[in-house]
Amino acid sequence: MEKAVIAIHGGAGAITRASMSAEREQAYIAALSEIITQGQALLAAGGSALDAVTEAVRLLEECPLFNAGVGSVFTHQGTHELDACIMDGRSLDAGAVAGVSRIRNPILAARAVLESSPHVLLIGEGAETFAFENALDAVNPALFSTPERWAQLQQVRDGEALLLDHDAPPLDERHKMGTVGAVALDRAGNLAAATSTGGMTNKRVGRVGDSPIPGAGCYANNANVAVSCTGTGEVFMRTLAAYDIAALMEYAGLSLQQATERVVMEKIPVLGGSGGLIAVDNEGNLAMPFNSEGMYRAFARVGDAPTVGIYRERTEGGEHG
Ligand code: ASP
Repeated sequence: MEKAVIAIHGGAGAITRASMSAEREQAYIAALSEIITQGQALLAAGGSALDAVTEAVRLLEECPLFNAGVGSVFTHQGTHELDACIMDGRSLDAGAVAGVSRIRNPILAARAVLESSPHVLLIGEGAETFAFENALDAVNPALFSTPERWAQLQQVRDGEALLLDHDAPPLDERHKMGTVGAVALDRAGNLAAATSTGGMTNKRVGRVGDSPIPGAGCYANNANVAVSCTGTGEVFMRTLAAYDIAALMEYAGLSLQQATERVVMEKIPVLGGSGGLIAVDNEGNLAMPFNSEGMYRAFARVGDAPTVGIYRERTEGGEHG
């Protein structure tokens, strides 16, 4: 059986069928379909899981529908601070950047950190300088801004509210789109994971969430699993959500299904967190649980048609292969 598979997410939140216009739903489905198909083609051609998740997340960053790269949310000061992480399950190498605002594709900067630096996580100006030294494009931060995200900030700026892509008011569907991520198992049996985000609307300048933290919002180990998270970053950090899934599988003998359900449906909500994750194990099993109303997601096995999901009901074909 062909086990190679890729899954992506575009954030979790209060996403219901009732609150979504047909036009907007179509835009999401088209974007997710297009991107998962490109990731699948890379794996089908014998590409590595690391390359497939890098490219899928780069494409998600380029798409203004999602809160990463172009379309990133604003901080309280009206600026952008982007975070990203990538991890290679073969070696447990990881690369990450946090608080960057002038790198067009933070996931490519994370990949450069993984490949060309002895460090794991670079922040702010130092991360940007490193990225430019490694031939990445410098951009004006205005590139990331969209009118929707600006309106979203105005609605919460006066208060202390941190607008997640989730349940914080206003419950306007246009504002619930989140963090992006990808996980993959390639034909050689290697796992990789990548996560990228603009963070949370109205976040304090300098705030960093789970997304760029290996083990919190992103994790991959060929021994068991690759995971990319989206949700209340502080809770995913405190639970080390992505690594916790690997630990539950390794030390407690849980299946992928059991481990992901335990973390997303029990451990995260107990601490007041909401969100979800995508995960693939080294057998090619997939899990995409979320405790919110919906999560933008898609997966594709090499040789099969891709499957796209938004709402809570299972997508056709099931998501637990
Ligand atoms: N986890 C992200 C963060 O806290 C937000 C999200 O997934 O929507 O920065």
